[in-house]
Amino acid sequence: MPSFVIAEKCDGCKALDKTACQYICPNDLMVLDKAKMKAYNQDPSMCWECYNCVKICPTQAVEVRGYADFVPMGASATPLRSTDSIMWTVKFRNGMLKRFKFPIRTTPEGSAAPDGGYPTKGDLGSPELCTEPESLGLPAVFTLES
Ligand code: SF4
Ligand code: SF4
Repeated sequence: MPSFVIAEKCDGCKALDKTACQYICPNDLMVLDKAKMKAYNQDPSMCWECYNCVKICPTQAVEVRGYADFVPMGASATPLRSTDSIMWTVKFRNGMLKRFKFPIRTTPEGSAAPDGGYPTKGDLGSPELCTEPESLGLPAVFTLES
């Protein structure tokens, strides 16, 4: 189920140039209604439920109704980030709470190399992915001969 914004919790990221959810969505789905200072998902059918907006929202205003194998029916999963960890609170429909805390990467924001630092190529006709074969640790990618 796609993401949705709980309007009561959203403060529009206090009128920054770009809201956190707009900044992080890989599909450019989140937009801000500047009159109401509330964000919303402009095309839920294009949301792939990556949870990026859920995790980055500073007010826990974004939710995704997770699938039953991850979040049992009627439950919710809410993240809370700190500088070195993220804690997920799963609330079951009978009110039971479970919390799971995980370490997160500590690379400073904006410093991660998008391609992992590997040399990239622009040959769209190649069967190799853009960082291969270096990222595989191989001298070449082996393919079936045609
Ligand atoms: S990140 Fe959260 S608080 Fe900021 S605009 Fe988006 S939903 Fe609202
Ligand atoms: S869950 Fe991912 S794809 Fe969907 S709106 Fe949030 S950031 Fe965008």
